[in-house]
Amino acid sequence: MTTTTPSSFSEFRRTKIIFTLGPATESEVMLEKLILAGADVARLNMAHANHEWCRTVIRRIRAVSARVGREIAIMMDIKGPEIRTGDVDHPIVLEAGQIFDFTVRPGAERDGAEEVRSVNVNYLDLVNDIKIGDTVLVDNGLIRLEVLEKKNAHIRCRVLTSGELKSRRHINLPGVKVNLPAFTEKDRADSLVGIAEGIDFVALSFVREAADIETLREFLRSQNSSARIIAKIEDQSAIANLDEIVRATDALMVARGDLGIECPFEELPSIQRRAVKCCLDHGKAVIIATHMLESMITQPMPTRAEITDVANAVHEHADCVMLSGETTVGKYPMDCIAILEKVARRVEWEDTLPMPDPAHLEGDKFKLLAAAVHLADQIPGSALLTFTRRGFMAAGLAAMRPVHAPIFAMTNSVETLRQMRLLRGVEPVQLTLGSDPNDTIENAITVLVRSGRLHLGDKLIVATDILTHDRLVDSIQVRTVR
Ligand code: PEP
Repeated sequence: MTTTTPSSFSEFRRTKIIFTLGPATESEVMLEKLILAGADVARLNMAHANHEWCRTVIRRIRAVSARVGREIAIMMDIKGPEIRTGDVDHPIVLEAGQIFDFTVRPGAERDGAEEVRSVNVNYLDLVNDIKIGDTVLVDNGLIRLEVLEKKNAHIRCRVLTSGELKSRRHINLPGVKVNLPAFTEKDRADSLVGIAEGIDFVALSFVREAADIETLREFLRSQNSSARIIAKIEDQSAIANLDEIVRATDALMVARGDLGIECPFEELPSIQRRAVKCCLDHGKAVIIATHMLESMITQPMPTRAEITDVANAVHEHADCVMLSGETTVGKYPMDCIAILEKVARRVEWEDTLPMPDPAHLEGDKFKLLAAAVHLADQIPGSALLTFTRRGFMAAGLAAMRPVHAPIFAMTNSVETLRQMRLLRGVEPVQLTLGSDPNDTIENAITVLVRSGRLHLGDKLIVATDILTHDRLVDSIQVRTVR
């Protein structure tokens, strides 16, 4: 293992941090602390949020960001096609070996079946889509049942792993091709609130194929929303269609909570590695989510295994790591951010897995950006500088994963600035982009020096247009800050 000597940018963290908002973090005081501590994206989990709360916290995040002078992005994570049990009057205790029914139509005649205990589920096609011998997992995999028999309106199961069934529990059907709409009525209603409040990302749960993303994209287009799409991969269909999903989406989330239930758990590390690699190949941002610092919900220090898990995500070159329960209900949200920051910065200075192959990314522009990154890698202590209206130049540079150079991405759009918070190694900065490229470069350097991000003598690789005889041409320049 080689460790590289840090340059003046050694304090710069490349891996981005996403935190999920909840009672532990939603106050103005906590938001200010989190934003100043370097959190990059706030996630609203719509499985647990109502519209009034969304409006309030989105406005609060915007107000705090503006006050402290650091805009962060907001991701609305919509539930997608989720299967749930209905209400039960009292928790039902299920013991291994017992027989239990899942019914699809409450009050429907019981197919002449003898009466056994049952609960309703919200998935009308359950009986058609499931096979005898399949597994039903309830409450995030805690209760396991095997399907013994199917009738018109119910499936009959044997309990394999005991547990207590409460109201509205999440159901997973590993390996079953679930025939539910990708974008539900609830998703639509939630998204409309998010769009009206100007969210930056919509994360779509249980994406199974590229068409699911197209459905959401069409909806966003119809609402004139510029929010970008994050596809959450959570089941076996998504893994089978990984390549088409990555091509269609703007970014990917490896949602390890559900993936670890829907797929054999020993597959999870390989799936994560394959998903990250696929995103690197296609130049798409990738998020590693769930259980990163789970023990810190109650403890002030992470386990050794959690530290290593975070380090692995950084080694693999993920763009972001994500916190869930750690920051919604956890006792130590600020410590979680500090620990992610510390581990990421330490690991980023080491040799990493092989760089993505720019050959996968088509177009002359990408080749030019690859050359700029190559140059930055050859000039120790250098930084990359680019100018971008919609974030594509920054995304292209980030996709090439410069080994150490930070990417300063100047933009005139605050929306673009927020969306660039997702990209590994990108430090977005707002700047008026003038018509003369040279003046714009000089202005950018002045702003970066004044804010302490650049220092006299720093080397810059500038990837931008230059003006020659009234024509804009692509260029790469090497400059020294004077
Ligand atoms: C996950 O399953 O890992 C995940 C992030 O999704 P959710 O928290 O919405 O279940």
